[in-house]
Amino acid sequence: MKTVGIIGGGIIGATAAYYLAQQTNLQVTLFDDAHGQATKAASGIISPWLSKRRNKRWYNLASYGAELYQQLVADANLDESIYEQTGTIVTRKDSNAVNELYELAVSRSMNSSAIGTIKKVTSADIMAMMPIVNCTESGIYVSGGAKINGQKLVDHLISAAESKGMSTIRKRVMLSSDNEVTFDNNRIKFDSLVLAPGAFLKELLMPLGYKVDIRPQKGQLVDFKLADWDTDRLPVMMPESENDIIPFKGGIITIGATHENDQGFDLEPTDPEILALTQSGGKFIPQLNSAAQIAIRVGTRGYTSDFAPFFGQLTPDSKVFVAGGLGSSGLTTGPIIGK
Ligand SMILES: Cc1cc2nc3c(=O)[nH]c(=O)nc-3n(C[C@H](O)[C@H](O)[C@H](O)COP(=O)(O)OP(=O)(O)OC[C@H]3O[C@@H](n4cnc5c(N)ncnc54)[C@H](O)[C@@H]3O)c2cc1C
Repeated sequence: MKTVGIIGGGIIGATAAYYLAQQTNLQVTLFDDAHGQATKAASGIISPWLSKRRNKRWYNLASYGAELYQQLVADANLDESIYEQTGTIVTRKDSNAVNELYELAVSRSMNSSAIGTIKKVTSADIMAMMPIVNCTESGIYVSGGAKINGQKLVDHLISAAESKGMSTIRKRVMLSSDNEVTFDNNRIKFDSLVLAPGAFLKELLMPLGYKVDIRPQKGQLVDFKLADWDTDRLPVMMPESENDIIPFKGGIITIGATHENDQGFDLEPTDPEILALTQSGGKFIPQLNSAAQIAIRVGTRGYTSDFAPFFGQLTPDSKVFVAGGLGSSGLTTGPIIGK
């Protein structure tokens, strides 16, 4: 039996673990200490089609990534507490910008049916679809948009892989060679390795003499609980120049997220950023100003000089597979890269 070690249990490592563990001829071991994990701190938005990023390879990857969720939902039996397709609304202050966005969505729908139905929506339409929201802007609604709970998704994929025989070791590990993992006083050799440590890839590969173009970006967000409001089945709202509003079941509203390039691997919540998130969300949902903050989540994204992810073999005939640099859209691109 061949052995595979996976370092990193975020969305890439957990998806890779899930699919590798289905292979009966492989013994899989996952190493993860969850420190600084981006996946569990993420907002959860899966909706790449209205992005204005010009990088076509990134767009294709993200669009295939959004499509893959349908397969992952079926393969891994994901319920609505993990993945829920309730659509996305993107607003613009200017009606010409709404028209441009609509054209973009229609042109992208030619190659991606996962975008679903595309509609222009007025401020009245938005408030009818999201009764908790006050909105003066119009925008575009796409029915294919979805939201995920990153923490629950990786927990689910890892426990499904464990039920197929995978071992999980909750430790910080190092590489002592391209086939050996060390932690405490242990050394374990593998036939193949998958390196998916998020923002920590630079540190992980340094002992092997690699310089990796990846840097940390701090992201903070706030989860609120609105006791008297029904938030079930509400779409995600991405207002222009403001933070995103992600409603989850049970009155939970997430507002996120910050993109802080100068904070290294710091994981402390900071008052000015949390206040700014609250005020941004409060412009559309005034009740947030007095709502209970039930959690502040902080994670570290890994991003690259060209803001594009990378993945593949470490060298052309290497048994080491590396993936990282997913930046702000890694919940969308992570599963397809991991798979
Ligand atoms: C606040 C925030 C909001 C976001 N919102 C969205 C969103 O709405 N939509 C979207 O598509 N993307 C979003 N993202 C981006 C997305 O979360 C990330 O791009 C993606 O989760 C990265 O996945 P990953 O598997 O590469 O890394 P991670 O999720 O960071 O996982 C890496 C794991 O490896 C572990 N690890 C690292 N080194 C070691 C080691 N030596 N030994 C053991 N374990 C190790 C870490 O502890 C961690 O658990 C957001 C990110 C943040 C922070």
